[in-house]
Amino acid sequence: MTEAQELEILKDALYHFGYSHQQTKCIEEMSELIKEFCKEKDGKGDIEHIAEEIADVYITLDQMVIYNDIYEKVKQYREKKLERLRYLVFMEQYG
Ligand SMILES: [Mg+2]
Repeated sequence: MTEAQELEILKDALYHFGYSHQQTKCIEEMSELIKEFCKEKDGKGDIEHIAEEIADVYITLDQMVIYNDIYEKVKQYREKKLERLRYLVFMEQYG
C-alpha cells in the first residue's frame, strides 16, 4: 500500500466517524497496548498481540496528527527528543 493510499484511508475514517469518535478510539487503542505490555511484564506476553496493538495505536495517532495538522510540529518535537535521547545515552556511556 502506498503512503497516498494510507492517507486516503485515514482521512476517510476521520470524515466518516468524526474526530471525537476517533480520538476516543485512540484512547482505547493506547489502553489495549498498555494491557499487552502489562501482560508481558507478568510473563504472559504475546508478541503478535503487542504488534497488533502498536499498529492500532499508530493508525489512530496518525489520524490525530492529520486532523490537527501537526505533522511538522510532531516531527520537530520528535527530532528534538531523539537528540536529547542520544545525549542521555552518550552521557550514560561516557559521561
Ligand atoms: Mg486494538
